[in-house]
Amino acid sequence: PFDVLIVGGGPAGASASIYASRKGIRTGIVAERFGGQVMDTLAIENFISIKETEGPKLVAALEEHVKSYDIDVMHLQRAAKLSKNGQMVEVELESGAKLSSKAVIIATGARWRELGVPGESEYRGHGVAYCPHCDGPLFKGKHVAVIGGGNSGVEAAIDLAGIVGHVTLIEYADQLKADAVLQKRLHSLSNVTVIIGAQTTEITGADGKVNGLVYRDRATEESHVVDVAGVFVQIGLIPNTDWLKGTIELSKYGEIEIDSHGATSLPGVFAAGDVTTIPYKQIIMAMGEGARAALGAFDYLIRNDFE
Ligand code: FAD
Repeated sequence: PFDVLIVGGGPAGASASIYASRKGIRTGIVAERFGGQVMDTLAIENFISIKETEGPKLVAALEEHVKSYDIDVMHLQRAAKLSKNGQMVEVELESGAKLSSKAVIIATGARWRELGVPGESEYRGHGVAYCPHCDGPLFKGKHVAVIGGGNSGVEAAIDLAGIVGHVTLIEYADQLKADAVLQKRLHSLSNVTVIIGAQTTEITGADGKVNGLVYRDRATEESHVVDVAGVFVQIGLIPNTDWLKGTIELSKYGEIEIDSHGATSLPGVFAAGDVTTIPYKQIIMAMGEGARAALGAFDYLIRNDFE
């Protein structure tokens, strides 16, 4: 059995594994895809101390760092179930194998909800973006669209309005769903246009980059084209917690509830990164949270007697 078993090999899981292993305890990582969302990222310019890098490059460095420790890395394995067996925590894999550990850290991350329209996956990273904190500065002075009028969409539009030339916010429903204070701020900005009752039907491009989008006015059924260099899709982030339902406490958005030491509602089970309720999902946050959960788990181990 492990002392600490980490589920997930993104920045949160990698960081947790190094912090745990440095305590001289038996540490393992089980991950479907090492690197997580970072593998899908092109330019990274906000990972402090590295001015500019690319996702796969950062993942290679992460893997090298993890491999320099005595950490049991189990790739291409998907966790399917979590349960408690006496003091031990058990993780059942999709393959049917069972892993047992004194403490488990869940770092299974999240995924952006996609629009599912033509052009979206084709131009992902070439104009189609999901993270305004990450990619906003790439569109300096240009016209971009934000899809989604909830809190994250309206926050993104306000944020981007300070960097880009013009923002067109597109909402499917007949009104924005964001908090009133955000809507008020949004409407005070001169370089933002809001279009409601609009269903985005296509993202168009030429020469390998986005050049516009098409939306259908839901009242008139007419289609309209907006010329934009970028489209920020802000229709939700889905935490990878389907396999945990009914075992630990989740928020109404399905995120794992944690305390200030990264502990979940189930003793011995900790969580870190995008899969949790922490706001501002970023690489640097995930790494910090991973370190915290590992130290929290270590604290738990030294405070409990195990047979
Ligand atoms: P993830 O990176 O999502 O990793 C989750 C891990 O868990 C993966 O290894 C996955 O395979 C594994 N996993 C999931 N389910 C299971 C399961 N059931 N069993 C086993 N393993 C499982 N942030 C920045 O700071 N700067 C940027 O420039 C930036 N750009 C981004 C661009 C894009 C396109 C995207 C999608 C995200 C970007 N982000 C950026 C956000 C950043 O990537 C995330 O905040 C960060 O990766 C979260 O780390 P994590 O370890 O919590 O989760």
